[in-house]
Amino acid sequence: MIKINIPGYRLLELEYLVLDFNGTLAVDGKLIGGVAESLNELSKHIKIKVITADTFGTVRKELNSIDCELAILGNGNQVKQKARVVKQLGSKRCVSIGNGFNDWKMLKVSALGIVTLQDEGAATKSIVNASVMSKSINDALDFLLKPDRLIATLRR
Ligand SMILES: [Mg+2]
Repeated sequence: MIKINIPGYRLLELEYLVLDFNGTLAVDGKLIGGVAESLNELSKHIKIKVITADTFGTVRKELNSIDCELAILGNGNQVKQKARVVKQLGSKRCVSIGNGFNDWKMLKVSALGIVTLQDEGAATKSIVNASVMSKSINDALDFLLKPDRLIATLRR
């Protein structure tokens, strides 16, 4: 578990890290540099789940060396499917990271929602429903590895 006490806001007791793949962990279907190392470090403290529509068909190969669970979405409402995974894990125990429109509800219902703004952009609906926005996935993962940065941004 990762515990982060944000003064005036909330005590986060995070057991699951839920991640979107394309646009968040990967650009053009390829994992972004530094992500594998950070995820394997985080996996010692928190369970990692990647939820994706796998637009580029690369997710299994790219996540091969990472200690995580994978959920590939079917057709149908992906906003609901992603939010449902978070609710089933327990919203209060989840930090989620995403960028696309289909991430907005999982970002909203998670105890901590981080939206990343990288090469594939971010849906404005996801930006307004996140707790915090980050300029890269490596910065977002560093929020969990170096929580003082997150505390400084979110304290009341
Ligand atoms: Mg995405």
